[in-house]
Amino acid sequence: MKRDKLIFKLLDEEQQRQEEGIELIASENFVSRQVMEAAGSVATNKYAEGLPGKRYYGGCQVVDEIETIAIERAKQLFNAEWVNVQPHSGAQANAAVMLAVLQPGDKILGFDLSHGGHLTHGSPVNFSGKLYEPHFYGVNKETGLVDYDQLKEVALREKPKLIIAGASAYSRDWDYEFIRKVADEVGALVLADISHPAGLIARGLLTDPLPHCHIVTTTTHKTLRGPRGGLIMMGKDFENPFGIKTPKGEIRMMSSLLDMAVFPGTQGGPLEHIIAAKAVAFGEALSENYMKYIVQVKKNADAMAEAFVKLGYQIISGGTDNHLMLIDLRNKNITGKAAENALVTADITVNKNMVPYDDKSPFVTSGIRVGTAAITTRGMKEKHMEHIVELIDAVITDPENEHSIKKIRKRVHKLMYDFPLYRDKDSE
Ligand SMILES: *Cc1c(COP(=O)(O)O)cnc(C)c1O
Repeated sequence: MKRDKLIFKLLDEEQQRQEEGIELIASENFVSRQVMEAAGSVATNKYAEGLPGKRYYGGCQVVDEIETIAIERAKQLFNAEWVNVQPHSGAQANAAVMLAVLQPGDKILGFDLSHGGHLTHGSPVNFSGKLYEPHFYGVNKETGLVDYDQLKEVALREKPKLIIAGASAYSRDWDYEFIRKVADEVGALVLADISHPAGLIARGLLTDPLPHCHIVTTTTHKTLRGPRGGLIMMGKDFENPFGIKTPKGEIRMMSSLLDMAVFPGTQGGPLEHIIAAKAVAFGEALSENYMKYIVQVKKNADAMAEAFVKLGYQIISGGTDNHLMLIDLRNKNITGKAAENALVTADITVNKNMVPYDDKSPFVTSGIRVGTAAITTRGMKEKHMEHIVELIDAVITDPENEHSIKKIRKRVHKLMYDFPLYRDKDSE
C-alpha cells in the first residue's frame, strides 16, 4: 500500500510539537512506548461485542485473555470489586452509568460547570442535561472550597436520584463520606467521577471514593497515564441490588445493569487494542516507578502553586491537593483567552478556564488551568516548576510583545531539550 505521506508528516509535526513545548494542560499526559504500541496493535482488527467468555463473535479467545487481565489489574489498582474496562472515554463511562441508574427526566445533582465541573455532569448542551433534570452545587465564594452545606441543602430540597462528586478543575480533595451520608438521607446513589485525580487516588495520595460511593468512573488518560479511554468501577457496594427495577419490574444487580448500559446500551464493539493498552498502563501504574512518578506530580504541583503565589497570582482555594490548579487572572489584567493564546505562541500549552463566579463567557474566561502530570512524566522536578512559572509570568505580563515571546519560546525549547520524550530511543 502507498504510504500516506501527508498524515505521517503531520504526525511527525505533532510529535515535534510535543517534544519541544511545555505541556501544562491538566488533562493530558504522555504514555509510554509500550502503551502506544498496544494501542497501535492488531487488536484493532477484532470485533468482540460482549464480555470475556460471553461474546457475540468467534475468535475472541486471545482478546478475552487481554480484557480479563485489564479487569484484574484495574481491580487490584483501585481495590475495586467490579470493573468494566470497555467505555471508549470518560464521557461514555458517565453516559453508561446514567443510563443504568436513571430514567429520562430524573433529577441529578452535580458540581457546577462554571466552578470546574464537567459537561457530563448536567450541562444543557450535553446528554446529561438534556435527558435528565440537572441541579448543581458549587464552591464557596470566599474559600474556593466545595460548599458542602449547599450540596446538602439542594439535595434535601430536590431529592435527586444521583449525586455526582468530581470535577475537571478543582484542586482539592473530596469528602465522599459526607456526600454518601446526604445521599442516604435522600435515597440517591453517589457517582464519583475521578477522571482527573485517578492516579493519585489509586496510589493512596487522596481520599479513596470506592468505600463510600456506589459507583466510580474515570478516564484512563489523565493522571493514570494510559490510552484515551474510560473505566467504571464499584467498591464495597458491589452487588447490592439497590432495589433498582427494570421497566418490567425485575430487580437487577447494579453490576449487570452497568455492563448492559455499556454494551448494548451506549456502545457497540469494544476497542480491544485500547483495552490492551489500558492493561499495560494499569500494570505500569501498579509499579514502584509509577509510585515515584505520582508522588512527584503532587510535589511539582505544590511547588508550582507556591511559585505562582510568590509572583502575586491568585490560585482558587489558595493551593492544591492534587496535580492541578486554577488561576484567576483578573488581578493580572488579562483574560484566560488572551493568556492561552500568548502562551501557545511561546509553546507553553495551557487552557483557558472559567473561574468560580466568573463574569466572562466560557469563550473568554478569567482564568487558566495548569497541571503537572505531563511535565512530570518528562522527568521535571520542583526546581523546574519555578523556572516554568517565571516563563509563564514573562509571557503574561507582556502578552503582545512578539519579540520577547519569541525569545521565551527559544528558552522553552532549550529547557525541554533536556527532557526527551520519544526522541530518546532507549526510553521504554
Ligand atoms: C475529562 C473528564 C471527563 C471526560 O473524559 P473524555 O474521555 O474526554 O470523555 C469526564 N469527567 C471528568 C470529571 C473529566 O475531567
